[in-house]
Amino acid sequence: MNNSIINFETPQNEPILGYKEGSKERIDLDKEIKRQSSLEVEIPLIIGGKEIRTGDTGKVVMPHDHSHVLATYHKAGDKEVQMAIKAAVEAHKEWSHLNWNVRASIMMKAAELIAHKYGAMMSASTMLGQSKNIFQAEIDAICEAIDFLRFNVTYANKIYQMQPRSAKNQINCLEYRALEGFVFAVSPFNFTAIASNLNMAPIMMGNTTVWKPATTSLLSNYYLMQVFKEAGVPEGVINYVPGKGSLIGRNVLASKDLAGIHFTGSNATFNQLWKGVGQNLSTYKSYPRLIGETGGKDYIFVHPSADVEEVAVNSVKGAFEYQGQKCSAASRMYVPKSLWKDIKEQMVSLTEKLKMGDVRDYDNYINAVIDKTSFDFIASYIDFAKSSDQETIITGGEYDDSVGYFVQPTIIETTNPHSKLMEEEIFGPVLTVFVYEDDKVEEALDLLDNTSPYGLTGSIFGRDRVELAKLKSRLQYTAGNFYINDKPSGAVVGMQPFGGSRASGTNDKAGGEFNLIRWVSPRTIKETLVPPTDYKYSYMK
Ligand code: NAD
Repeated sequence: MNNSIINFETPQNEPILGYKEGSKERIDLDKEIKRQSSLEVEIPLIIGGKEIRTGDTGKVVMPHDHSHVLATYHKAGDKEVQMAIKAAVEAHKEWSHLNWNVRASIMMKAAELIAHKYGAMMSASTMLGQSKNIFQAEIDAICEAIDFLRFNVTYANKIYQMQPRSAKNQINCLEYRALEGFVFAVSPFNFTAIASNLNMAPIMMGNTTVWKPATTSLLSNYYLMQVFKEAGVPEGVINYVPGKGSLIGRNVLASKDLAGIHFTGSNATFNQLWKGVGQNLSTYKSYPRLIGETGGKDYIFVHPSADVEEVAVNSVKGAFEYQGQKCSAASRMYVPKSLWKDIKEQMVSLTEKLKMGDVRDYDNYINAVIDKTSFDFIASYIDFAKSSDQETIITGGEYDDSVGYFVQPTIIETTNPHSKLMEEEIFGPVLTVFVYEDDKVEEALDLLDNTSPYGLTGSIFGRDRVELAKLKSRLQYTAGNFYINDKPSGAVVGMQPFGGSRASGTNDKAGGEFNLIRWVSPRTIKETLVPPTDYKYSYMK
């Protein structure tokens, strides 16, 4: 019997490796990229720990070289989704009752496996399958994935310690039960770490999941399943179910055992899931918890007191890293007229230096966008700008999908602050700038606040600290992650818990205790040590 109380103290963030030529990490990664580039993997469904091949298959390709097939994957049908639900409900019986130290040790083991044995595998599959350069894959598939795992253990430790007061003759406690049923984890293509966390956060708290991975990130996500298995996640605790979102969603939403949805993806998909839950409400045993982090139209607001170089460098990085496919990527910008000429010059010059191409050429800063649908969608906004007399493309504007889905980083100046380029999420390397008159800061702030339905991330730049304080207060509800003199992307677990409100989601802050607390349903237990034996009040005879 283990009676120890282990304290999982706050960890350090996983350091970002440099990948300099000749370094061990670079040699390992080179080898792994070559190995994975020469393989065609078969990706089965994994339900109750068993591999299932349905024969209804699809292909996983490299976005930067779309004739290169990385894997063939099997798609779930109705039968397999039902099997996955059953397996998750079955596994819940043992997993939810396990001493939480055991669950914590599995998280810690998974973190170590990614930090050492499987680092190159996770990075290479994220680079090749999701078209990320070395740095972007390192901060995602390695550092953030590890941080989520380790920090969640500390947060769980903290939550379990939150207990009510006991008093004379009574003992009170909160028992942090896992939700009753299973959690539907639905992940986006753009972060391997998010895909991991959408499962691992609920399972840390004793839940089990049916996981719908994005079709364009299946390779790295399949390797995650191998890491989880080796770390000790038991059969059926996470059930990996690739396939068509609508088919899988329809089956899952109709299950009485649906206890929660842990979603990251677009606003449209989350709305659909939420509506589906509403329609099936009378079916469920409990009200399902709905946790969704969705899209953004993230901004940079430049005050007239800002430093030109700081603005230029951060907006180029904030808008174009990972081809603008971060939910936090800057995609609209408000610049005072007095600074625009200088900022524009520097931004154009920096943007034109960014090399674009295959991830296997490490000099490429920009790689491909994820797939044909995304490529066409982004191109349609660029075409709109080309055909409009309110918009001017000041750099970029070209796109080509003959080899890979390449879109040049594009900066557009608009005279219409309500242009769809300023309002809608494009999710690609397109940044639109509206130039405001220096004496109209208030009007520009109103525009920023009221233009787009989202409220995910935003940055303000300036050197006048009194003005910055006013901006911070004025823009209170425009972003759940708010940055001062920094780009609006790059949140780090344990430092900037992530999430936004308005149309950007439920703001339960991935990488923090706010998120974990959604995965438990506390039971209050009171024990009376000497129960009363007389029904009368003390003043009665
Ligand atoms: P998406 O909404 O197209 O897909 C997300 C997931 O939902 C995929 O696995 C998809 O297959 C699944 N899906 C689609 N329809 C479904 C249905 N009817 N039932 C069940 N599942 C269904 O999003 P995406 O293109 O993969 O990712 C990009 C989006 O994600 C952007 O909008 C971006 O802003 C957002 N995002 C947000 C955050 C955040 O933290 N706020 C982080 C990353 C990405």
